[in-house]
Amino acid sequence: MAPERLKAPRGTFDVLPADGERRRSLRTAAERLLGDAGYAAFESPVFEDTALFARGVGESTDIVQKEMFTFEDQGGRSLTLRPEGTAGACRAYIEHGMHKRPAPVKLSYWGPFFRHEAPQAGRYRQFAQVGAEALGSDDPSLDAELILLLAELLERAGVAQLRLRLSSLGDAPTRAAYGEELRAHLRARAGELSAEVRARIDQNPLRAFDSDHPGTRAVMDDAPLLVERLGASDAAHFATVRALLDDAGLAYDLDPTLVRGLDYYTRTVFEFESAALGAQRGVGGGGRYDGLVEQLGGPATPGVGWAAGIERILLAAGGGEQPEAEPKVYVAVAKPEAARRAFALARTLRLGVGARVELEQAGRSLKGQLKHADRVGARAVVIVGDAIEVKDMRSGAQRTARDEDELMRLVRES
Ligand code: AMP
Repeated sequence: MAPERLKAPRGTFDVLPADGERRRSLRTAAERLLGDAGYAAFESPVFEDTALFARGVGESTDIVQKEMFTFEDQGGRSLTLRPEGTAGACRAYIEHGMHKRPAPVKLSYWGPFFRHEAPQAGRYRQFAQVGAEALGSDDPSLDAELILLLAELLERAGVAQLRLRLSSLGDAPTRAAYGEELRAHLRARAGELSAEVRARIDQNPLRAFDSDHPGTRAVMDDAPLLVERLGASDAAHFATVRALLDDAGLAYDLDPTLVRGLDYYTRTVFEFESAALGAQRGVGGGGRYDGLVEQLGGPATPGVGWAAGIERILLAAGGGEQPEAEPKVYVAVAKPEAARRAFALARTLRLGVGARVELEQAGRSLKGQLKHADRVGARAVVIVGDAIEVKDMRSGAQRTARDEDELMRLVRES
């Protein structure tokens, strides 16, 4: 009996070559954009102690309550595949004493994240995020800079029909006082709410703004708004963020009902959506988290950051698959005895020409090799036999190279 064929787990996917090229170009663009703004490359483990997310992301969030891939290691420790990147960045900031570095400490990352959600278009159980964090300063220009960087990245990636939603949640005491006011409002009209919202009045009343339930929506239309309760310094902070975005000409919608699915946010919160996507329209978002580092046992440290989903960016950018990059040079082997020489020449050409060079590695006849080189779009074929010849694939001209210098020159010219 033939062995059973295995498939990738539900909600996961393989990145095949054409898509891989798009991801690689996006990653290169993101690294350049963020690097130029001072966001250094940062990596943390894909699994962390479960307690980090329970404390960092918040016990009451959907992520912690039902979406984490949590397991015990052989030593009985509870570990979790990271569902987001900010908690890990803050853990590392504390662990490595990064508060002693000049502020702000700017980090950026790219990598896989894991959430046990119901899979659908644009929602997976393993997905990739690019993210950026600035720690150690509450300067509103960091909020604006980060928002503008994400806008720039999405625009360069070709994401269509973008909308930026922006709000401020104030500081922790304002949020706590507002939470009480909102709870009182919800309790007074509990009968009109959905059962789900009613059950979470105590835990997380803000999430009621997310509900599609008609009764709940009516109650929320009359609800007090947090932006109207901001203290003077938070209101001034938010006004500066907005002024900087206005100066940069970036359009946004002030949305006092914007609630992000993570508990650690304070002050600025934002989300980019693309109408080109279906139900899962959030392409990236973030905000300020001035209490998070302290909550994780570090010194009082302000922070702000965002994360954007790679698969959603590429879906929203459309354009389908990108053709696979073409090799510039194809090294053909004219007879078996020349294989060793051809192998060495392919390396030399890669170093010398600085272009993509491919070598015959599948046992084709010389005729088959030339056909293959043409099909993959090579501009020049270096034929290695008794002599070394360079065939210009556009003109068809074939010339003999007497030495490596001449070979380089002929390849560069073709
Ligand atoms: P969040 O941390 O939930 O704000 O997520 C940031 C971004 O990551 C979102 O805007 C999405 O683009 C992406 N994202 C979050 N969850 C998923 C998922 N399950 N599948 C694919 N992308 C996701």
